[in-house]
Amino acid sequence: MKQLMDRIKQDGRVLKENVLKVDSFLTHQVDPELMSDIGKEFAKQYQHRNITKVVTIESSGIAPAAFAGLALGVPVIFARKQKSLTMNQELLTAEVYSFTKQETNTIAISERFLNSEDNVLVIDDFLANGQAALGLIELCQQAGAHVEAIGIVIEKAFQTGRKLLEDKGFEVYSLARIQSLENNHVSFVED
Ligand code: 5GP
Repeated sequence: MKQLMDRIKQDGRVLKENVLKVDSFLTHQVDPELMSDIGKEFAKQYQHRNITKVVTIESSGIAPAAFAGLALGVPVIFARKQKSLTMNQELLTAEVYSFTKQETNTIAISERFLNSEDNVLVIDDFLANGQAALGLIELCQQAGAHVEAIGIVIEKAFQTGRKLLEDKGFEVYSLARIQSLENNHVSFVED
């Protein structure tokens, strides 16, 4: 998605250990026009695939997932990272190792929002080693739901996430694929 790649080039900042900071438009401040176009781009790809729910993880997956859900006309569920007092029963849970925080979190979705009739599009802001996506897939599978595909806003193609997911038979669709962040420079995978 050219518009997204241009924005990454303009506003993305490379941090140490191969982390890209995009907090001016995606992970902290959100550009709603860009998010709306991102949502439409996911919808263009998946509108004929009978998606019934979009599933993401808090917090940075919520903005692109919400716009994808709007464009597809389906509800959006975000997995929560802690069990709060109001979410203490009937939970689907999975453990996820966080690439950026280097800690393991329990993620949870209420059983009430997913079932075996659902055909899910999983969406996340970044794909690195695939652990967040894998945790979300696990929650869907616990509910008996089918995972149709994984939609990613920014894939770091030099990490192992895509291979991990594809080896398990999942389709991965990314709007921007980063080849390298070496020398503080963002380069994209040539299509
Ligand atoms: P994975 O689970 O695929 O290893 O990592 C994906 C998760 O880690 C995403 O949900 C995202 O929040 C975070 N993440 C991974 N790499 C980056 C990055 O380069 N920049 C930012 N902002 N978040 C990242």
